[in-house]
Amino acid sequence: MYHQIDVPPPKGTRLRGSTVHPARFKSQMRWLKRLGYQGVSLSELAPYLTGEKQGKVVGITFDDGYDNVYRNALPILTELGFSSTNFIVTNELAGQNHWAQLTGSPMAQLMSIEQIRDWHHQGQEIGSHTASHIHLDKTPKEQALTELTQSKYVLEHILQTEVGAFCYPYGSESQEARQWVAQAGYRIATSTQRGLANATDDVMALPRVNILRSTHLIHFLRKIMTQYEEQKRAAKA
Ligand SMILES: [Zn+2]
Repeated sequence: MYHQIDVPPPKGTRLRGSTVHPARFKSQMRWLKRLGYQGVSLSELAPYLTGEKQGKVVGITFDDGYDNVYRNALPILTELGFSSTNFIVTNELAGQNHWAQLTGSPMAQLMSIEQIRDWHHQGQEIGSHTASHIHLDKTPKEQALTELTQSKYVLEHILQTEVGAFCYPYGSESQEARQWVAQAGYRIATSTQRGLANATDDVMALPRVNILRSTHLIHFLRKIMTQYEEQKRAAKA
């Protein structure tokens, strides 16, 4: 789970931790490749979880659809032949991260329709992150379903292809919310719960590994290649 790929803002800036330097991201991706891993999108990951496919794969996701991910991560992913999923807030096409600015984060530009199309055409996946970045577990059913179906429809209209991947804003989910996501027609969804996704996880709420500005290479590899994140998950359960 990545958010922004850019030169991190100054010390003391809110959410500075979720901006990974492009050089660090490049090094992380190159190490995955060197170690024999294939970076895949969330939808491409699905058959590996069910056991239909076998291999060394790492699902790569980006939340919120930042312009800096398009500019700084896409060339590296393309160079390595990796795919990934970028989750878009459809009421903010070419807009801003207003929801994060409300709590003091700096403004960040979000991808335009042209960038979303190009992301998809370059072999990457586009998923939904709702229409307006809502807390799904605090939203009434009708409104939640509208957010889920509307964002899916908008993205499918832009891309002229099925959009099956979803990501819960703020990691905010519940058993009920998972049912709404499935009801809206999504096939796979991811939360912010820590852990390495496996066959026993609910495909409507797969756990992730959070990669931050401060995640240095050894820690990155420990998170991906060892049971470190699974121990963290067990400790929380
Ligand atoms: Zn988000």
